[in-house]
Order: sequence, then structure tokens, then C-alpha cells
Amino acid sequence: MDLNRSLKEYFGYDGFKEGQKKLIEGILVGRDVLGIMPTGGGKSLCYQLPAAMLEGITLVISPLISLMKDQIDSLHEVGIEAAFINSTLSNREILDITEDIKRNRYRLLYVAPERLRTPMFTQLLNGLQVDMVAIDEAHCISQWGHDFRPSYLEIPRFIKGLKRRPVVSAFTATATREIVKEIKKLIGLREPVEVTTGFDRPNLYYSVVKKGDKFAYLLEYLRNNFQNESGIIYCATRKTVESLVLKLQGKGIDAVGYHGGMDVDERQSNQDDFIFERKRIIVATNAFGMGIDKPDVRFVIHYDMPKNMEAYYQEAGRAGRDGNPSDCILMYSPADVVKQKLIIQNENLSAEREEIFYRNLQILVNFCHTSDCLRGKILTYFGEEPESSNCRNCSNCLDESAPVDITLEAQKVLSCIYRAEQRYGINTIIEILRGSRNKKILEAGLDKLSTYGLMKEYSSHYVREIMMHLVAEGYIHVTTDQYPILKLPQRAREILKGETKIFYKGHLGGREEGHLKESHIFGENEEQEIDIALFEKLKALRYKIASEKNLPAYVIFHEAALKDMATYYPQKKEEFLKIKGVGEAKLESYGEVFLQEILAYCEENHIDAQDHRKEKKQVAAAEKGAGEGERYKQTYQYYLQGLSLKEIADKRGFTVNTIINHLYRSAEAGEQVDWSRFIGDSYREGMILEVIERLGTEKLKPIKEALPEDVSYEDIRILLCKYQLG
Ligand code: ADP
Ligand code: MG
Ligand code: ZN
Repeated sequence: MDLNRSLKEYFGYDGFKEGQKKLIEGILVGRDVLGIMPTGGGKSLCYQLPAAMLEGITLVISPLISLMKDQIDSLHEVGIEAAFINSTLSNREILDITEDIKRNRYRLLYVAPERLRTPMFTQLLNGLQVDMVAIDEAHCISQWGHDFRPSYLEIPRFIKGLKRRPVVSAFTATATREIVKEIKKLIGLREPVEVTTGFDRPNLYYSVVKKGDKFAYLLEYLRNNFQNESGIIYCATRKTVESLVLKLQGKGIDAVGYHGGMDVDERQSNQDDFIFERKRIIVATNAFGMGIDKPDVRFVIHYDMPKNMEAYYQEAGRAGRDGNPSDCILMYSPADVVKQKLIIQNENLSAEREEIFYRNLQILVNFCHTSDCLRGKILTYFGEEPESSNCRNCSNCLDESAPVDITLEAQKVLSCIYRAEQRYGINTIIEILRGSRNKKILEAGLDKLSTYGLMKEYSSHYVREIMMHLVAEGYIHVTTDQYPILKLPQRAREILKGETKIFYKGHLGGREEGHLKESHIFGENEEQEIDIALFEKLKALRYKIASEKNLPAYVIFHEAALKDMATYYPQKKEEFLKIKGVGEAKLESYGEVFLQEILAYCEENHIDAQDHRKEKKQVAAAEKGAGEGERYKQTYQYYLQGLSLKEIADKRGFTVNTIINHLYRSAEAGEQVDWSRFIGDSYREGMILEVIERLGTEKLKPIKEALPEDVSYEDIRILLCKYQLG
């Protein structure tokens, strides 16, 4: 049995995410399994894929009936038949489904735990071959969790009552050890194959904001960030939800509310508006969110402080399931603490539990006041060791006014200079630290040094900044030779031995609010050059199909799939199948329409897909082989000869865009690039700049549209490069 083939066939993915394979293999050999993975970790696939392969039916226990339909629809789209039974169906419908179940039409059946108690249901199942019971959101069984559902406690008895004990698989994103222990005990898992993946979510930017006027801040944020994308705003009480929705609508912002006190229909319709992207923003209490699979939520804002760290991590974690950069913003004010304390008092808890609640609240208050790395605090809370004291992607690590401890990074740099026998200049040391495959490095055997690749997760800009700081502080000495060499003065030992700590004040790269992020210039992945115009067209097509079928857009294709299409211009069915997220069923349903759109676009714009792909492959090969340094250098040489971008592009066999990218990298590595040379006149430059400043840099399309037609995307990119560096 080839798991990878089944993965591609159904879900269209080329590889498994961390932990998935082990859990699926466990299930398929008949073991119980327990998967503890963060939100977005890909838990559903761990039971859906084996369910498609097993002979009998898989029963999925999931807490939220309001979301079952979406899950069934998503499965249908990938060619796996599934059904649900819950209270939203009429008796007639239930009977029909029951008949189909008996005919073995479905691979999965979704139910809420309450259903397990009904004798009719037990009877139905006992006439069937149940091969697996999959328990999603398994932490709902624990009283200590934030989503306790008493009827989850029915599960073990229900399983015991089955004629033959099926495989039991349980999944949760809970990171708290006590809860995990309780899950295992209460469900009665038998020696489960257990997988716990790391809980870090590197694509999430964490920020704590302390502002007197919260609403003004919120408005400012919403107007300047992710203007066309989805987000969740959490409030502590129903009252705040209602008043905030009105205030936002009053300011012309498209928001709906969601809380437990609402009429069920209204609540459902608001949730649908959000999921179907008819409304961009949902303002909600903590009643909203569990099981919401919307992958492209770009921000989660806590307008009030949540009640504890676990709740915060779960709620904030609903941003960025698809792995793209997203914001988690916690707005803190001392009044929130009072609010939360009142909520605790009103819950009629036992003295013991009340104390735990207060203690957990205090941990979160401390989190709001710390000047240490927020990501680090979260991970430490869940018993994980952060990789570095500076994550470069939280408000504390990027706070210019607060000094950052860079001792560890400094030690890496200094020991690299030492290991390289104090014989090289700054560029070579950076290349060693970042694990460059540059020929020069390899020929000199520098890849054999113990410090080789020690800082490969840092940008060269970042490493350079640290080195400059060390030079300025007198921990590195630079010789005055024609090719300056780095030497270690006596005092470098203090840092190497850990006797002195070193701090850095200022911006060290990574993400910074209000500034240009690299991803805006070259897309998420710097080598993935997305054709934005095509991407927008495909998005519109997706939206049209989704509306016709009454499905959420992401059920048709994820954004990542559209980006792949807008990068590789597939022309034939076989090529379309190579796109991430395209399996057999989606090829069948949508291949033709999307291919048509892509072909028409290529024709209209005289794009030779073959050439483009060749180049993209070339880039990929160059990336693996020659080492990036070489690639940029060649381009830079042509630049020095005074060639135009187009001329360089032709000579190098790359697009203009790639050439801009190369020059940008060269500039980043310290070379001089006169960007204005490519723009022509300063009037034009000023005009583009004005629009960029007015519209922000989140998206290039609105910028392009606000400018005269003869200003190209390339022109805008050039200015972005210049602006960031200059
Ligand atoms: P969880 O339930 O753990 O929060 P989901 O099951 O909703 O996560 O999956 C999160 C996202 O990851 C989904 O958009 C899903 O399509 C995607 N995904 C799952 N498995 C893979 C994989 N092997 N490769 C790429 N994407 C995947
Ligand atoms: Mg899930
Ligand atoms: Zn941090």
C-alpha cells in the first residue's frame, strides 16, 4: 500500500506533514493512536485518509454540528464520500442516510457525542462493520480544558458497547500535559501510538498592545492591514461583541457578531457569512472558533484579554492555518483583568477551581507585561524549549526601544571567526554561518567547520547587523588591508565564555509593522514568482464556482493551489495534477475550467508557459547547485556593465522580475545598487512612491491600479526595493 500515492490521489499533496504518516500507519496496522498537534497541523487528514482506505466505516465524533456540513462537503470535493447525522436533519433525511450507510455508501460518518446515547444509533452501528472511531477535539472530554463537553464522557461506554472494538484514534491541539493525561485515561486508549509535534507556529506574529483607546487602535489596524482578508476579533462578553459590531459598522467596516446568547439561526448565518467570505470580519466571544477550518484567517485580535494562556493559544492559533504570515494581537488594559475576575466569580466554581482560574489568569497578565520574547513565553508555558531567545516575529523581539539579548548569536559569530582561524572577511563568515554552497566555501573546505550552517535560519542582513554591532562594541577587529579580515581581540573571550552578555537596540530584520516585508516584494516564498494578475483572475473564478455550489471558496481550492497555478501556468491535465492540492477528484471537477482560464490568460498576454517553467526550474537548480551568491554576482556584473534590466534578463535567461530579485539580494549583501537608474525620471518615481505610501504595501494590485497604465509591476517592485534599502 503506497500511502504517498493515496495522499496525492485524494488530497493532492506531495508529502505528509510532521507526524501524519506515523499516525496513519498506526491506524492501518490496527493500533489506537493519539495525535497532539497544533491547529493547522493537519489532524483531520490523519483519520480521513485511512478512513478512505479501510473496508468498514469510520465514525467521527466531533463537537460542532454547525461545521459538519462543511467537512462533508470538503471530503466530497476530494472524492471521499461521507455523511453526518445530527439534529439539523429531519427524520426522513436521517432514514435516507441510514439506508445509504447500510449500503456501505460512506467511508465516514460524523456525529456529535450526544448522538451516542440514543439506542437507535447504537443499533444501527451494531449492524455495521465499524473499523475506526475517530475522536476529534479530544480535549473536550477533560473538565480542565476550556471546551469541556460532558457528553464526551459517553464515548468510552459507547465504544465498549460495540460488537467488535474498532481502532480508536484521538486528536487534539491541546498542549497542556494534564489534559493530555486525562484524555488518554478517560477515553481508554490502548497503548496508543502517540505523536506530539512541536507547538510553535512560526508564521504567527504575536503582539501585545497596550493602548488607552482600544477602538482607535483597532480601526487603525483594520484600515492598514490585510484590508481584503478575513479576521476574527474576540471579546470577553456578549455585550462587547454587540456594541463593537455596531461601532465597526458605523465606521463602514464589514463585520458580523457571534456569541452564545444569539438566536441559533442568526448565529449560524453570521458564521456562514464569515466562512463564505460574504463578511470579512467576525466579532465573537470564545464560543466561536473551535473546529473552524477556514485556512486563510489572516488576523486574530483579542479586543479583551482572554481568561488564560491555553485559551489564548487556541484562539490566536485560528489565524494562519495555511501557514502564511498572520497576526495575533492581544490588546491589554488593566480593566480586562477586572472583567475576567468578575467572570470567574460569576461561574460558581469550587474554591479549588476558582483558585486555579485566578492563577491561570495571572500567568496571562504576566505575559502581557513581559519584555521577553512572547513566542518563547508561550512555548515555555507548554513545556517546550524555545529555539532562540529572539524569535524575530513578536512585538517584543521587534521592539526597537527595548534592547534584545543577542549573546547567543554573538557567540555563534565569534566562534565562527575563531574556527575559520581569523583569516576571512565579513562576507565569507556570513556565508559559512548561513551554510552557503558557494564554490569558494566548498573548495576551501569551510563547510567542514563546526560552525558551518549554524545560523542558516537567519537572513544575511540579520547576521551582518549583529557583526556590525560587535565591531562597533569592540568585540571584532577589522584589519585595514585591501581585503579586510576579521580578528578577535582579547575581549571577545568574555562573550565566548559567557561572562558578558551583549544587547542590541534597534531593528534586526524579520517582521516590522508598517515597514516593507520581503514577502511583499517577492511573494511568500522568494523563489515563487506569482503572476498577480492571473492569481486575481483565478481567485475570482474560484469565488464564482464556490458561490454557485454554495461552498466556501477554500473548499474548491486553497490559496496555495491558486498561487501555484499562477506561478507555473499548467497547460495540460497532467500538469494541472502536479499543482499542490489537486488530486484526482479536483482534477476531474475543476481541471478543465481552470485550465481554460490559464490558457486564455497566457494567450492574451503572450506568455510561453514552457519558457517560464524552464526558467523556474533553472532557478530551482541554481538554488540547489551553484549557491545563491554566484547567481546574484553574475547578474550584478551585468548591472555594473550598465545593461538594462531587460538586457540582463535576456542574457541570463531569466525574467526581469528575477533580475530585480537578484539585484535586491546583491544590495542586501552590501553591494551598491542605483535603483533610480531603472525608473527613468524622478517625477515618475515620486508619483509611484506617493501611491505606495497612501495605499500601503500589503498588496501590489491596488497600487498598480491607482497608477497610469504604463507603470508596470516591475516599476513598483523596483521602488519597493529602493525604498526598503534607501
Ligand atoms: P488541524 O485540524 O490540525 O487544525 P487541519 O486538519 O484543518 O488542521 O489542516 C490544516 C491545513 O493543512 C488544511 O488546510 C489542510 O488542507 C492542510 N494539510 C493537511 N495535511 C497536509 C499535507 N500533508 N500537506 C499539505 N497541506 C496539508
Ligand atoms: Mg481540526
Ligand atoms: Zn519573539
